[in-house]
Order: sequence, then structure tokens, then C-alpha cells
Amino acid sequence: MKRLVRSYRAIRVAVSLSFLPLLMREALLLHMGHEKGSIHQDVPGFIIWLMSRYEHLMMRTLNYLAMRDWMYRRDLNRRIMDFLSRRMMSFVNGEVLTLDEVRELLGSIFEGGYTVAIGTCPCRRALNMLSDDVPNNTDMVIGLWAEEYLRHYPGLYHRIDKAEAEELVESFDRYGYVHQLYGFRSQEGSAYVLCNCNKDVCIPLRTQKERGYQSFRKGRSLAMLDEEACLGVEECGACLTRCPFDARVVEGGKGAVKEDMCFGCGLCVTTCKGKATTLERKKGAKLIYARRLVS
Ligand code: SF4
Ligand code: SF4
Repeated sequence: MKRLVRSYRAIRVAVSLSFLPLLMREALLLHMGHEKGSIHQDVPGFIIWLMSRYEHLMMRTLNYLAMRDWMYRRDLNRRIMDFLSRRMMSFVNGEVLTLDEVRELLGSIFEGGYTVAIGTCPCRRALNMLSDDVPNNTDMVIGLWAEEYLRHYPGLYHRIDKAEAEELVESFDRYGYVHQLYGFRSQEGSAYVLCNCNKDVCIPLRTQKERGYQSFRKGRSLAMLDEEACLGVEECGACLTRCPFDARVVEGGKGAVKEDMCFGCGLCVTTCKGKATTLERKKGAKLIYARRLVS
């Protein structure tokens, strides 16, 4: 019996000691500058450690919880899930950026000398949905996150330079991928990953659309339609299929915008054949995670 107690104590001490490096790392975490053009990743080291190893498993769990209809039949269950999701999103959250904003963001990040790496989308890994037809490597990690992901996933992530990053985001836009910049605890300028999301794969996007849980905020702009210039959905209709948020609908034969559903991603602008759609900046709308990196 005594031996059993001693073994139990030894295991407890060993487990406690194994967390020491993490705690020390958290205590020593560098706080980066807050001046214009600098990123502000004051994220506990433990969170980066956890996310860089197990992000796809967290995504898998979120997907499991969000896509089980039976879990939402009872009001109490729904409220519990809503509460948990809001708690989670109060830590990790994102915002939608347009392609122009992404270009400016990359300019600031590379000018600041931060590491940028690209790797396989964690949602694709979580769902085992690797594609032969469209890009799988769409997860663009930044700064401390990039360094950590490069260390843990040398086969999945690789470092990129500015030219490659720009080329990639242009191609993601052509594929209709939504640019979302994620940060931590609503800290201004805490950009840690630029996700380029396929609407049929992205777990946060699908969860937000299907369950209404906030995973990311709307961007600063709103799509506006010039009805005169619209070619009509019979002849064109590109905006209807292009919008990842179902914000384009048919009204009077034209591709109208449902303003309350528009996230301001700008994807419907670049493919509008009649050049009838433009983006307009919403009054007072601000970016949080891209603050000081995008004007
Ligand atoms: S309407 Fe256009 S800008 Fe708005 S969410 Fe849809 S694609 Fe994006
Ligand atoms: S893509 Fe442009 S031209 Fe085509 S239906 Fe939509 S608004 Fe009209």
C-alpha cells in the first residue's frame, strides 16, 4: 500500500514538473511593441503551445458539437452551447478583411520583419477534407504563431516571403476564399493568423451561419448595388454563387444585397460582370486585430 501511495505521489510531482517549462515560458513571454505597424501578440505561451499542436482537434470537437441537430432540440441545451461558445469566442475571435486590406496588412507585417508561414487549413485536417482541385494550404500564421507552427509542423508549414504571400492571397481571392484575421481577447493589433476560408469547409464560418454563434466579426464595408448596371441574374448571377454568407438575393431580376447578412468580404465585387457592385465603408466601423496594420 505504502509503495502505491509513493508511486502516486511521484506521478503527481512528475506531472506538476512537466508544466514548469510552460509556466516559465508564459512568465517570460515577450511583450511586443505597440507602435504603428507592430503586432501586439500578448498571448500566454501556453495558448500558443496548445493551439499549435491541437488546433485541428479543437476544430473537430467544435464541428461535432455544432453539427449535431439533436443537441439543439432542447432550449436548455441550446442555451448551454450558446454560453460556452460565447466564452470561447471572447478569447479567440476574428474579423473579415477585404483583399485590399489584406494586401496592406501583409505590407505592414513584412515591413515589421515578422515571420509569416503558410500551412494546411486546420479545418480541412479536422474534417479529412484535403482537396485535389482547390488550395489546401491556406492557413497563414504570423509572428510568434508562425515560429511555433514552423517548429511543431515542419512538414505542414513553411516560411514565406512577401511576394509569395501576396501571390497566395490573390489566388485565394480568385477561388472565393474569405479572408479572416484572428486575434486574441479583442486586443488591438494582435493578428496571429490570416485564415483564407472555403465556405464549405471552414468550421467557424459554417457554425456561425448554421447556429448563429459568433466566431468572427463583420468587416468594415458593405456591398452596394447599382441596379442600372446589373446585367440581371438570368444573364449573370455570379454574385449569388460567389457570396459565402448568402447575402445576395434575387429582387426584380437583379442581384440585390441583404445588408444585414453582408460581411463586407468584397468577394462579389471582383467577379461582378456588370461592375454593378461596389464596397462602401460603414460609418464608424473599425478593425480590431488589424488595427495599426491597416489604415
Ligand atoms: S454581399 Fe458581397 S461583400 Fe457582402 S458578404 Fe456577400 S460576397 Fe461578401
Ligand atoms: S454579379 Fe453583378 S452583374 Fe451579375 S447579377 Fe450580380 S450584381 Fe448583377
